[in-house]
Amino acid sequence: MTKIGLEIHCQLTKLESKLFCPCKADYREFEPNTNICPICIGLPGSLPRLNKKALEKGTVISLALNCKIPEKISFYRKNYFYPDLPKNYQITQFDAYGPTSIGSNGKISIEGKEIRIRRIQLEEDPGRLIYEGSSEKTQITLVDYNRAGTPLVEIVTEPDFENPKQVRIFLNILVDLLENLGVSEPALEGALRADGNVSIEGGNKVEIKNVTSFHDLEKAVHFEITRQQSLVDRGIPVELETRQWDDRRKITVSARSKEEEQDYRYFLEGDIPWVTLDPQHIQGLKNKMPESISSKRDRYVTQYNITEQVADVLSSDKFYSDLFEQAHNETNAKEIANIITTDLMGFVDTNEKRQKLKLNPQHLTDLANVIMTNKITRSSAKIALQEIVNTGKSLSDVISELDLGHVSDESALSEIINQVIKEHGNAVNEIKEKPETINFLVGKVMQKTKGKADPTLTLELLKKKLIS
Ligand SMILES: [Zn+2]
Repeated sequence: MTKIGLEIHCQLTKLESKLFCPCKADYREFEPNTNICPICIGLPGSLPRLNKKALEKGTVISLALNCKIPEKISFYRKNYFYPDLPKNYQITQFDAYGPTSIGSNGKISIEGKEIRIRRIQLEEDPGRLIYEGSSEKTQITLVDYNRAGTPLVEIVTEPDFENPKQVRIFLNILVDLLENLGVSEPALEGALRADGNVSIEGGNKVEIKNVTSFHDLEKAVHFEITRQQSLVDRGIPVELETRQWDDRRKITVSARSKEEEQDYRYFLEGDIPWVTLDPQHIQGLKNKMPESISSKRDRYVTQYNITEQVADVLSSDKFYSDLFEQAHNETNAKEIANIITTDLMGFVDTNEKRQKLKLNPQHLTDLANVIMTNKITRSSAKIALQEIVNTGKSLSDVISELDLGHVSDESALSEIINQVIKEHGNAVNEIKEKPETINFLVGKVMQKTKGKADPTLTLELLKKKLIS
């Protein structure tokens, strides 16, 4: 049986400072090696201090993934040498004396299958290596420590996945969950990274590293299963090893024989004391947690009679569900949910467009209102929405500027209907035998008014003129 486990690294991008020092957690804007201090570059004599907010975010993630939170947590040094790691050890968590990581023994259900979460740990991100030079031979490696010490939460699953599709579904759910909790911004480059390990029947565990996107992890896992299966089929043993994902060729390549956990010589980080967690404080964090995606979805369906499909799409996207929450009331909720999911999501389909979006919740409330009171047709509403997205103008300005108001004035409409009757004599004559022909005439009136005629009134007037 194929067994796949994941290690997901999530940067806590919403924090002000790094995990153990006052440098900025958001390192992306800085010139290389300017967002650093003696603590995060590991100068002798410097002492780390734990960021309380990072601890809280780690707690919230653990709670959301149904993990147990211990009474006390501790930190460990994971020893290894690599140029991006200035101290030659990474401060992380490790359950050497029972569970002392921020979370353990959690679970999350994906399409009826339970995925167990082994451990959630707080740790620091290393720095970054940057490769420059035009060819392999002239290439030089630069190191930038701005990222060193950035707060990370690592989520380690049990090897409960059986195929790449389950991996993809899990990662999608996890991205939505982390975004909904307000702890990370998945759209930021490098904010979410994942490693996988794959073993098939009769083979050793192979770790896949260096996968830069969640999308590629599914591909990497798929490639690895195929590679291992072909070895086993030919009677060649699958080695215990770490393989790198080659982003360009979309294959995994052998990197080194895998270190086991004991090779890292974990030992307690003596510079950070054990931290006792106050159950009341944890309860307080729990009470303040945002509503979960599944509870939001259920509420949208039961309270507002929104279809399950629309509720699903809306609840899993924090950006749009926040907009919905601010715009709706009991009566217009369904209409607003439909405007967002059928039109707005299409107009604003990239992160860049989200940033530039000029629309505010009041626009949505106004738009639902004019649709529900029949002051504007749905096709005109869509045109108005597009204009608001681009300009941020008020709905009433947009309606008058683009002349989108309904033709619901009876005499004006009556005149247009008379023209249509004159132009389509054949259809008019057919009505007695084929009453449904009247819909054709309604269509013609809509065409003439560019979709602005009130369809109910149009039908009523046509019937009055032609049938009675
Ligand atoms: Zn620092």
